[in-house]
Amino acid sequence: MNIILLGPPGSGKGTQAKRIEQRHGIVQLSTGDMLRATAASGTEFGTRVKAIMDSGQLVPDDTIIEMINDRIAQPDCRRGFILDGFPRTVPQAEALDAMLARHGLKLDHVILLDVDAATLVDRLSGRFTCNRCGASYHERYNQPRREGICDVCGSPEFVRRADDRPEAVTARFEVYRRQTEPILPYYTERGILRRVDGVADIDAVTAEIESVLSSASSSGGPV
Ligand code: ADP
Ligand code: ADP
Ligand code: ZN
Repeated sequence: MNIILLGPPGSGKGTQAKRIEQRHGIVQLSTGDMLRATAASGTEFGTRVKAIMDSGQLVPDDTIIEMINDRIAQPDCRRGFILDGFPRTVPQAEALDAMLARHGLKLDHVILLDVDAATLVDRLSGRFTCNRCGASYHERYNQPRREGICDVCGSPEFVRRADDRPEAVTARFEVYRRQTEPILPYYTERGILRRVDGVADIDAVTAEIESVLSSASSSGGPV
């Protein structure tokens, strides 16, 4: 099963992707996590990527497309994958179709997490993430089960993302509206996009996503 999770920054893509990963045994492909690893690598390229991310802008399409193209060819993707944070532009959506066709794969579901702006701001301002695996937590809504220990990987180290500062958040919302929202019609027209109420609590959102995933594949055929 191959899935895309779409939604603005802070809508819960990462949180839900980790749950789908555990429940369905398919891998989460988070372009944000991959880029944060690149940014931390200390190379000159990493430094450039970090500057773009911290400002809230997008990394160039070619870089991301190559990254995903290599990643979906890996053996652990054979059972399926959840794209979290990709595609984010129309050229990325088009490139995804071409690469899926080349690999003989299809999309089963495209799910949009619908969340209003005030809720997004509230979520991003309280977010902290695991330094090792990228799992997201929230000061008020989503603390680790054991204080100070990541539920997913057991790491005791957490960070606040530089791009969750208010200035960068404003830029990210604008980038989402201008560059990412235009991909919604791309999937709506093919009848593959399903909207889920992302404002509900985390378990309720998971339940709604599960009901979409257990329905027949949203796509009529290869896309
Ligand atoms: P969010 O939590 O806002 O959805 P992500 O962790 O997915 O954020 O992405 C963080 C940053 O990484 C983005 O603001 C952007 O700079 C970069 N990035 C992630 N995915 C992509 C992509 N598909 N195309 C371009 N840039 C990306
Ligand atoms: P995205 O990957 O879309 O940027 P995250 O999964 O990182 O979003 O979630 C953003 C923040 O909101 C995190 O602090 C997370 O713990 C919290 N969060 C996620 N889903 C919900 C929810 N349904 N209700 C309340 N808080 C949530
Ligand atoms: Zn972790």
